[in-house]
Amino acid sequence: MTTLLWLSQDLRFDDNPALNAAISYNQPVLPWYWDDPSNPALHTGAGRWWLTHSLKAFNDSLRATGGVLACSNHDFDGFTQRILAYQCKAIVFSASAEPHLAQQQRRLYEWATEQGIACRRLGGLSMTQHDLIKTKAGGPYKVFTPYYRACLQHIESPAATVNLSDAAWQQVDLGDGFERSHLQPWHPQWAKGFSARWRPGEQGALEVLNTATPCLDRYSERRDFPSEDMTSQLSAHLHFGEISPRRIWQHVQQHWPQGEAEAFLRQLIWRDFSRYLLHHFPHIVAKPFNTKFSGFSWLPNATYLKRWQTGTTGYPIVDAGMRQLWQTGWMHNRVRMIVASFLTKHLRIHWCDGAAWFWDTLVDADLANNIAGWQWVAGCGADAAPYFRIFNPITQGQKFDAQGEYIRQYVPELAALPNKYIHSPWLASEVILGEAGVTLGQSYPQPIVDHAQARQIALAAYADLSK
Ligand SMILES: Cc1cc2nc3c(=O)[nH]c(=O)nc-3n(C[C@H](O)[C@H](O)[C@H](O)COP(=O)(O)OP(=O)(O)OC[C@H]3O[C@@H](n4cnc5c(N)ncnc54)[C@H](O)[C@@H]3O)c2cc1C
Repeated sequence: MTTLLWLSQDLRFDDNPALNAAISYNQPVLPWYWDDPSNPALHTGAGRWWLTHSLKAFNDSLRATGGVLACSNHDFDGFTQRILAYQCKAIVFSASAEPHLAQQQRRLYEWATEQGIACRRLGGLSMTQHDLIKTKAGGPYKVFTPYYRACLQHIESPAATVNLSDAAWQQVDLGDGFERSHLQPWHPQWAKGFSARWRPGEQGALEVLNTATPCLDRYSERRDFPSEDMTSQLSAHLHFGEISPRRIWQHVQQHWPQGEAEAFLRQLIWRDFSRYLLHHFPHIVAKPFNTKFSGFSWLPNATYLKRWQTGTTGYPIVDAGMRQLWQTGWMHNRVRMIVASFLTKHLRIHWCDGAAWFWDTLVDADLANNIAGWQWVAGCGADAAPYFRIFNPITQGQKFDAQGEYIRQYVPELAALPNKYIHSPWLASEVILGEAGVTLGQSYPQPIVDHAQARQIALAAYADLSK
């Protein structure tokens, strides 16, 4: 008799309620990563690279305790046939807010109940349980601040760390070890440099928490400045569940000054809010939360989209962000907001096109955060920035990268420009450009659109929507 531990975004041993529950059945545990091929939110690109390495890291830790991780990409029926073949008498997993995964979890729960197999859904992917947080009227919150206040009452302590030596593991040979399987990244040539920068897996997450960000004591003041390492960069570790948000919160409470810890907690709760929204409003994966935007006049433009993706818009802060993304698989939050605003407002390209590019290129690609982030910036999300608030890419750069350090790192062809012109090279004289080795239109592009004009056009489109 076996207990199936169906792993998804909980690739860790610490604070993992599903793992604890699986071990508590006192029978061999079969840890299994099922990569459901019908999931429209399967990782591609950079996320795939991370996932592959995260699974390997989990498997290495598991092997050290005598287990082996099973991985497969059968369809639902293939998965359940194997559950029967391996005589699983109990199934446990962490409840997901992602629509497809949540639906498959419900389906498996119903199937298991019919088969007389015990099935348990546990928390642990978020800091709070989404169904416990309700407005006074009993419905879901749609605005962040009251949601945040309500959450504070419901954050649970991390689950006890289990003694893995108590666990007995069931090993199965699926005949498609994940070294050789579909879990290989699909674009290895572009992700090559990631290994130098990231260490996927639980140990990597703990290293970041304990060593790289033991205490960000100026987090609230400096978290918006992209050239400074003043954010945790834990997002991919969090997405793949290599560390739990509750464990991070406990660490931060113990080691950071109170005000900084609270500022950080707010971000962790933004993460929960994204999941909460997806749980209650699953349609937002593809449709605007604010239905007023269903008829918005987006302007499909493959050439502009390509220029944005390749970091050649002629707006240095936008280009630096898009190149940081391509080179490292990650982008600073302030810059994510600037580039998303530029795509949806200056270029009026649909937020779904931006979200798709982020999905493919971010190592922390996360359905809930990505959708919520894009809808928030585009103005169509829950509690979103109003559409008419259009980020000015020049003043944003001047404010958050005043010395141009971030731009010089990712747009080296502008490195020799004086700070005065680094955010708007087109304002520099021919002499200054010549001295900096910049030829606009050749070594660096002219701006793809005029900021003031694009802003007016976007505002007019928004005004049309309000009619
Ligand atoms: C257009 C857009 C798309 C985004 N796509 C993603 C995505 O696919 N995956 C992703 O994890 N985040 C996404 N974010 C949110 C945010 O940019 C990242 O979580 C953050 O930059 C990660 O860096 P960090 O770990 O250093 O953050 P920190 O500042 O150290 O924050 C700690 C953690 O809190 C959470 N967090 C921080 N900011 C936010 C936020 N604004 N919304 C929700 N959670 C937050 C993250 O899990 C993060 O790791 C997106 C934001 C925007 C504007």
